[in-house]
Amino acid sequence: MSIIVQKFGGTSVGSTDRIKRMVFNVLKEKEKGHDVVVVVSAMNKTTDTLVKLAGELSTEPSKREMDMLLSTGEQVTIALLTMALEHQGVEAVSLTGRQAGIRTDGVFGNAKITSIDTHRIKTELSDGRIVVVAGFQGITKGGEVTTLGRGGSDTTAAALASALKAVRCDIYTDVDGVYTSDPRVVPLASKIDTLSYEEMLRLATMGAGVLHPRAIKHAREHHVPLVVCSSLNEGRGTLISGKTHRNASIVGVAHQEDISVLTIFDCQGGESLILYDLDSHHIETEIVKYGENLVLIVKEQDFQAVKRIVEQYNQAYSHIEQREDLSKVSVIGRINSSHEVKEKVTNVFHDYHISKVSIWESSVGLSALVEKRDVEKAARVLHMHFGLDYIETKRAVL
Ligand code: ASP
Ligand code: MG
Repeated sequence: MSIIVQKFGGTSVGSTDRIKRMVFNVLKEKEKGHDVVVVVSAMNKTTDTLVKLAGELSTEPSKREMDMLLSTGEQVTIALLTMALEHQGVEAVSLTGRQAGIRTDGVFGNAKITSIDTHRIKTELSDGRIVVVAGFQGITKGGEVTTLGRGGSDTTAAALASALKAVRCDIYTDVDGVYTSDPRVVPLASKIDTLSYEEMLRLATMGAGVLHPRAIKHAREHHVPLVVCSSLNEGRGTLISGKTHRNASIVGVAHQEDISVLTIFDCQGGESLILYDLDSHHIETEIVKYGENLVLIVKEQDFQAVKRIVEQYNQAYSHIEQREDLSKVSVIGRINSSHEVKEKVTNVFHDYHISKVSIWESSVGLSALVEKRDVEKAARVLHMHFGLDYIETKRAVL
């Protein structure tokens, strides 16, 4: 039997009315004869509210207790959606991460899925039930509850789709697909119909919040097509699969607002130790090397953790310097002549009075650090000058 995995994000299940609407999306696939597994997020801002509650009681709550707390959000939604399905007369069952067999490593707050025992889900499906699984959570070998990092329900969905060899994984969200840039910031951004896993991974890693980067890796592993679509309208969404359909080499412009930079000077022996340690905490940093100096570009939320790790190896470098309050803007795509692109970005910034802190080529394209106040303007002008504006594209076609 063919399995479809559907994932409903926080706004898609943000109220009981919204949940009722999602029931019809589930039934639509069931009626086509598919077995359906649904993964849900916590309702609306529930996770943020829980984080805030913890902050009212402790400045540094333990990571274990944070995961215990945050994992509750998704459990509310699985029960509510399952009740709504049962009310329509269909058989359904809700499962926590643990009941769904989702095993993770022990990195609280940012755990990675290590394996999935699909036995229980398959039994429920073969008994004719729709299975509703709590996203964002799993269980360690030792029985501890973990969470997968903010936005991690996408990863639960893609990992389940991969483990169950699903024919498709549909990610329902509050936008109607993946855009060439964040449309709230770049009004002339346009929806992309198809992307390869690589292209999507580049966009997501550099700040396109629409998909959790790890989700794409799981889908790629077993070639499960991912579809990002709207939970509010019927549009076709964006299909992400093994194929690229694009002629243009530049896919989009992504930005990240809250960025900090740590420069490690004369880092000779310690580089691999530091990078290994960061990796084992699953902290994603972008690393730029300038001779013996190592520049770590990190999300503001990870900065203290990164600093703590780096300081442990203070024998291995002369000194460190830090800069907070920056933003990053990236031109994503295959860049043939990095010199040309660098020059173009530099000229555009000059013309629009955007002062760049630094600019470098990375595996995903070209990135620049700018002052926070300039980042939105930088995204808009780069989007225009790299020919991505919607109007420009239309003109080119005419
Ligand atoms: N509820 C979690 C969050 O808000 C996970 C998710 O929604 O994907 O980050
Ligand atoms: Mg999300």
